[in-house]
Amino acid sequence: MTGRVCDLGNLMPVDEAISRLLDQAPPPPLVQMIRLDQAMGRVLAADIHSPVNLPAWDNSAMDGYALRAVDLPEEGGWLLIGGRIAAGDQACAPLLAQQAVQIFTGAPLPPGADTVVPQERCRIDGERVWLPPASVGDHVRKEGEEVRRGHLLLKAGKRLRAQEIGLLAGAGIARIEVYRPLQVCLLSSGNELREPGDPLAPGQIYNSNRYCLAELLRGWGVEVHDYGVMADELAASRHALSLASSECDLLLSSGGVSVGEEDHLKHAIEELGSVDFWRIAMQPGKPLAFGEVAGKPWIGVPGNPSAALITALVVVRPFLLRAQGMTDVMPRPLAVPAGFDWLQRNKRRQYLRARLTPGAGGQLSVELHPQQSSAMLTAACWADGLAVIDCEQQVLKHDNVMFLSFADLMQ
Ligand code: AMP
Ligand code: MG
Repeated sequence: MTGRVCDLGNLMPVDEAISRLLDQAPPPPLVQMIRLDQAMGRVLAADIHSPVNLPAWDNSAMDGYALRAVDLPEEGGWLLIGGRIAAGDQACAPLLAQQAVQIFTGAPLPPGADTVVPQERCRIDGERVWLPPASVGDHVRKEGEEVRRGHLLLKAGKRLRAQEIGLLAGAGIARIEVYRPLQVCLLSSGNELREPGDPLAPGQIYNSNRYCLAELLRGWGVEVHDYGVMADELAASRHALSLASSECDLLLSSGGVSVGEEDHLKHAIEELGSVDFWRIAMQPGKPLAFGEVAGKPWIGVPGNPSAALITALVVVRPFLLRAQGMTDVMPRPLAVPAGFDWLQRNKRRQYLRARLTPGAGGQLSVELHPQQSSAMLTAACWADGLAVIDCEQQVLKHDNVMFLSFADLMQ
């Protein structure tokens, strides 16, 4: 993010982990043709060129009077009212010299008219209208001024939001080619995990990653196949993984990737495919596993809930977006003044749960939650995003820090 050079020992820089994953992203899923009303959140599989000019013809941007600007004296003057055109009317009759027609927003300009004066600036007297000075083109939306027929409307690789769907509808496009949704199998690893609603025996905890990661995936447009908890045992892990790899495009698991774990997961994956364990220079986070199971990519994020969340947001998200066929996959950090001092120098890049707080003048600054443990989610619930402090970086209050908003990272 900053290009700072740090001695990371045997840790992998975050940016390298992301680019290694992107290099190995699978080709996007197959293409399907869908109706526009099913297209929200889907990724365009082909460039779309406009079949029409937008607007399709010259039309009025205001309710008022359409005229030929040369007919109006410099200081303004009177013209004869020659008719009325509303939105939806056809404007066939050409405008006669020294005439104006009453016109409404969105109505086509009559042939010959080149200017519109808003009605609140006009005075009516019987058959005549007084118009103030006007320049050619005032309040006219020209044919093709937004997009010309045949020009690029939207590029392949774009995820469709409400505004893109509106634009396509406005160009009269009813069906589009998108990638079919990416199918991701989600697995949790850990014998201590129980489901919310079930009683806990001593030593057990509730499975929070299953719920949190599933919602992240859905927010990114992925179809989730929830495999629940994989028992910490070789045969069970092998069975769950091999079923998942036959049903999904990609596997994501949490837990079981730290040093010192019981190694069932690792052995099961090695039997079915291959796996690399990476140690990434980020906090929270660090352990990450990447490999393949029966030819399907597999990513393992750490089990601590905040580490799982942040590793998924920062490292896994670009990979999953690329695997859906998206081109623009990296978040855009904002530079915002810090409302805190950060004096410790860390080897690992810090992703701190943070909030944007407006000061007296409305100027935003970044505040940190006092509790930054990788095991706890309360700070992430309080936060609007992540303050990013690079390896060895010190920050003084009012220095700019990079801020990644959850709103960006969760879509
Ligand atoms: P691990 O990465 O498996 O070593 O787990 C690290 C920590 O995260 C341990 O305290 C686990 O109990 C906890 N943990 C692992 N998986 C989950 C999960 N799905 N939900 C909540 N906590 C978990
Ligand atoms: Mg574990």
